[in-house]
Amino acid sequence: MTCQLTAPWDAVLQIADVVVDGHRWATLVGMYGLTVDSSGNSCGHVDHSVSTLIRTIEPLLHSDRGDRVVVAGDMNLWPKDVSYKFDRIGLIDLIECTGNDRDQLDRCANCQGDPQCRHMWTHKNGNSPNATVQQIDFIFATEELGIELIEVRGGIADFPDAWDITDHAPVVATFS
Ligand SMILES: [Zn+2]
Repeated sequence: MTCQLTAPWDAVLQIADVVVDGHRWATLVGMYGLTVDSSGNSCGHVDHSVSTLIRTIEPLLHSDRGDRVVVAGDMNLWPKDVSYKFDRIGLIDLIECTGNDRDQLDRCANCQGDPQCRHMWTHKNGNSPNATVQQIDFIFATEELGIELIEVRGGIADFPDAWDITDHAPVVATFS
């Protein structure tokens, strides 16, 4: 079964099969939450674009590639505003599900001091010492890949020199 997807904006979706020993290991989707409204005009939030992009990739999840899919990227949203949208289409938040592997993120903007917080600081929001501590980068995967997950590392805690290079710290998932 073929599956043709049409991205609603340029440079917001990159999709590729990862082939290992001649077999497709998984299909990777790079996604970027664009701050545009339904008319395509620039606005201050990504609610419209991320929901639209999720709808765009849903046929992939229902195709013959749908069992092994990873979606990763800068969603420009905090976890409470985005993880449930992926949960609805059956994708697991790999940072959330490996939360026991890391400590509470101090000053997490998403969690406001909740001791249960296990997010990563992935985005440097300016140079102020009071800059927002926030995770806006994610990796989601289908259940079949979730079973093969070994660990997830990321954020400035795991990549302490990341912000010498860019304002985003990496998030890396390792599978068996
Ligand atoms: Zn948090």
